Amino acid sequence: MSFSSLGLADDIVRAVTELGYSEPTPIQQQAIPAVLGGGDLLAGAQTGTGKTAGFTLPILHRLSTRRSLHPGGRAPIRALVLTPTRELAAQVEESVRLYGKYLPLKSMVMFGGVGLQPQVQQLRGRVDILVATPGRLLDHAQQGNVDLRHIEILVLDEADRMLDMGFIHDIRKVLALLPAGRQNLLFSATFSDEIKALADRLLNTPAMIEV
Ligand code: AMP
Repeated sequence: MSFSSLGLADDIVRAVTELGYSEPTPIQQQAIPAVLGGGDLLAGAQTGTGKTAGFTLPILHRLSTRRSLHPGGRAPIRALVLTPTRELAAQVEESVRLYGKYLPLKSMVMFGGVGLQPQVQQLRGRVDILVATPGRLLDHAQQGNVDLRHIEILVLDEADRMLDMGFIHDIRKVLALLPAGRQNLLFSATFSDEIKALADRLLNTPAMIEV
């Protein structure tokens, strides 16, 4: 099995090949076609399995091959990845940048504990893919600094940790700002009743994978 046989664009395959990835990991073999297909996904995966590329590669593919659904005006944010910690947010955004280095897409990472103003400045420029922790994203949303009305793909990464850290209320408020009809991906290492309830609310007849 190769990355190109999964249907990923040449520019993405080139980037991962240069990083020394010779073949997709088991979660990537399952997640990439599911996400490329456009449906929702519920994935059980620990870190270290390659889950980050499992969602970022097909997101990059979809955003680069489909025009923004937003009619005219400024280019909107099209994909949103929520993570529990700033470290994970930084890692995911770094992956997006590495895997998307041959694509004309811009990413941004946003987390708390640092000044708001530089983030406000960055939000005024082009951002296609936003990787954020929930609290800081909500701060910006409530101040009118970020427009989430054109998100096409939402990812909740390490959803179990986000719930453990008490982010459920922030997540609910963020969800209320997103448009209907988007694609939703939920990644979690464990499946408590709380995660199942969130998945039930969020996901539309999802593909389910577990590694
Ligand atoms: P993750 O589980 O997403 O945190 O990824 C774990 C590590 O595996 C990261 O350092 C990735 O760079 C690496 N990785 C992801 N996919 C592949 C692959 N297909 N082949 C080799 N390394 C990979």
